[in-house]
Amino acid sequence: MADPLLPPGVADLTAFAVPSGIVPTVPGVLAGAAPTAPVAPRGSAPTWPGTAPQVGDLGWRAAPVSAPEGDAANYYFLSGPAVVREPVPQIPDSHEVFDVNAVRADFPILRETVNGKPLIWFDNAATTQKPQAVIDRLAHFYAHENSNIHRAAHELAARATDAYEDARDTVRRFINASKSEQVIFARGTTEAINLVAYAWGGKHLGPGDEIVITHLEHHANIVPWQLLSQKTGAVLKVAPVDDAGNLLLGAFEDLLGPRTKLVAATHVSNALGTVTPVHKIVELGHRYGARVLIDGAQSIPHIPIDVQALGADFFVFSGHKIFGPTGIGVLYGTEEALEETPPWQGGGNMIADVTLERALYQGIPNKFEAGTGNIADAVGLGEALRYVEKVGIERIAAYEHALLEYATPLLGDIPGVRLVGTAEEKASVLSFVLAGHEPLEVGKALNSEGIAVRAGHHCAQPILRRLGLEATVRPSFAFYNTYDEIDVFIRAVRRIAEGG
Ligand code: PLP
Repeated sequence: MADPLLPPGVADLTAFAVPSGIVPTVPGVLAGAAPTAPVAPRGSAPTWPGTAPQVGDLGWRAAPVSAPEGDAANYYFLSGPAVVREPVPQIPDSHEVFDVNAVRADFPILRETVNGKPLIWFDNAATTQKPQAVIDRLAHFYAHENSNIHRAAHELAARATDAYEDARDTVRRFINASKSEQVIFARGTTEAINLVAYAWGGKHLGPGDEIVITHLEHHANIVPWQLLSQKTGAVLKVAPVDDAGNLLLGAFEDLLGPRTKLVAATHVSNALGTVTPVHKIVELGHRYGARVLIDGAQSIPHIPIDVQALGADFFVFSGHKIFGPTGIGVLYGTEEALEETPPWQGGGNMIADVTLERALYQGIPNKFEAGTGNIADAVGLGEALRYVEKVGIERIAAYEHALLEYATPLLGDIPGVRLVGTAEEKASVLSFVLAGHEPLEVGKALNSEGIAVRAGHHCAQPILRRLGLEATVRPSFAFYNTYDEIDVFIRAVRRIAEGG
């Protein structure tokens, strides 16, 4: 039966009835009492005209029961003459052709020196550096736009909301999602995967159901599924790789069956650089009726992403891996997959209406964005994506591929070097070990030359152990790196190998 309190125009909300036993007793409100009308915070403008009982003892004003149409209920309301705003800094249009020196000039941190040497940033798989455009955009946000978003009727809320929703739409465009509502802001890849595991998995998986991942996964795409399996009794299966780090697609398909409910696979391995056949993975997963999540943390800065062409149910990535801020990332989902996913966190912003007995949720994306989000960094992420669009992701991919092709044989030729991860298709990452030298020792020696690489297990212990290792040295490239930097790096590794 339709909830009499459901505002018109907000028809498809999911209702959650709080069991009456746990309704807090508040003076003037009886536990388990009939639902009261929606309430608005003290002093807020009554946005829903009408009459409703007062919840006087809380000091709140009862809000009426009819709502403005559609999204208007979630947003600020400003009318009147257009307001003149401080212009948002524009990305200089200097990248009509790919010029690595012009690109480098956009990244102030690349002018740093480390141990008296020019910084060589080869730790891009861990995090990327930020162009001035992103730094300026964040400063502009805090200087001119900072406010909480959505419900408010003042200018700064309007600016902040516009900037935040504009960032959401930039993400939509960047990954070619059909609607911006399919873009959920999260803290990063890790949080986005946990959201799917907890909320989607918690609802749709039961004892004996199966989740299939690959041996290449980052811990962020392993541990949430282990937790889910422990909670639900689902079984976690792992598709194998060969010694070069190629996913064995036939063996992957052999794992799929009528009990497979979810496939979760990385697009690019952060430890080896393997590019996986994601289109095939999605197609096979769907053939067996499973939902498919693709971890795009390492592919987003290197490979053009078209989520509609890919067809995955969920695609996740982190802002900081694509020249944006830390603490912000994205869960993309098809409308169908997101609609069948219940909220995972409760609180402000994700609700349409709350009484002490039950809550009515917003639709996507707000249903998944409880509380005050990372507004400024979402705006920063939008700017990072616009910057990448200006440089051109295809040009980026081609240039980085050339860097990898250049560096791989030079590194492999150094006596004592074992390349770790030599899959047919790779992006950005050049993992290796050096006989007689611990990875950490190599990392420190490179740091003394100003070269930043990661040395360790890269949060991907299962794949390193599969290859008989506990750690590697991992240089990883971005489009602001140069052939000259690779030459400096190769000379440094050669010196370490020779004991110099
Ligand atoms: N997945 C992959 C493939 C990664 O490389 C990473 C980070 O390195 C993650 C997931 C986790 O990303 P974050 O720490 O930004 O949540």
